[in-house]
Amino acid sequence: MLAVGRELLIGRTPNTNAHWMGKRLARMGSMLKEVTTVDDDLDEIASAFRAAIARSPDFLVVVGGLGPTPDDMTLKGVARGLGVPVRKDAKALRLIREHYAKRGMQTVELTPARIKMARLPVGAEPVVNPQGTAPGVKMATGKTTVYCLPGVPLEMRSIFRRSVEPEIRGVLGKMHRKYITLKLEGILESALAPVISAEMRKHPGAYIKSHPRGVREGVSRIELDIAVVGEDAMRADEEGEDIAREMTTAVRAAGGTAKSAGGIRG
Ligand code: ATP
Repeated sequence: MLAVGRELLIGRTPNTNAHWMGKRLARMGSMLKEVTTVDDDLDEIASAFRAAIARSPDFLVVVGGLGPTPDDMTLKGVARGLGVPVRKDAKALRLIREHYAKRGMQTVELTPARIKMARLPVGAEPVVNPQGTAPGVKMATGKTTVYCLPGVPLEMRSIFRRSVEPEIRGVLGKMHRKYITLKLEGILESALAPVISAEMRKHPGAYIKSHPRGVREGVSRIELDIAVVGEDAMRADEEGEDIAREMTTAVRAAGGTAKSAGGIRG
């Protein structure tokens, strides 16, 4: 994700879009690989965009700065990053007009500020925004599909669910994932570290991560996330359960306790 907006850098707005998207992708069996945040600045956007594209991700989602105000310059920055101009797009203009018309505002004039939302990088196409005025934007560069989405969380989520997610699912194919969380007590993270290392060597594709939850009444508490993703649902399930069992045995051997706090399967 490339998040654009000074408000994110000065602590005015927490980047809840990254949090939401990361969680959503993880539940799909995919992952948000990197989140970069930049200022509302053409050169910053262009260079961060180029850097992201250079890593050839399957998808790059650029969020924020699609609106009508002068500080909204994402599409120009992306165009600069791609080395193409921006051009008024007839379909985007139609979507903006329809947005106003649907809300009973047939007479809203298409001022330069409103037309600005329809100026897309050449080669890009608009994506319907069911919740707001500025359309999303889609384009392809190399092996990467790029989506530019509005920053307003309601709008971002709605376009992501409707347009981006089905495409990501298509690329993922039928991946299955098994997530298990164990609640551990009475073992310090430093004592758990070698146990996790050994388990990760045994199950190289699995993700095992400890989250310390503090010490209460002298007892150390840790939540341990286990995730296995694979094409074979039964094997993913089995491997996740094997890891949980092996970790439980190892934690008990080290003098602690472990109990399952549930999980997700899909
Ligand atoms: P609009 O069409 O409404 O102008 P936009 O794409 O221009 O949308 P921004 O101007 O960047 O969006 O931000 C609109 C609102 O969404 C602001 O209140 C901003 O704080 C919030 N916002 C932007 N980016 C994020 C983010 N990553 N996480 C949470 N909120 C965000």
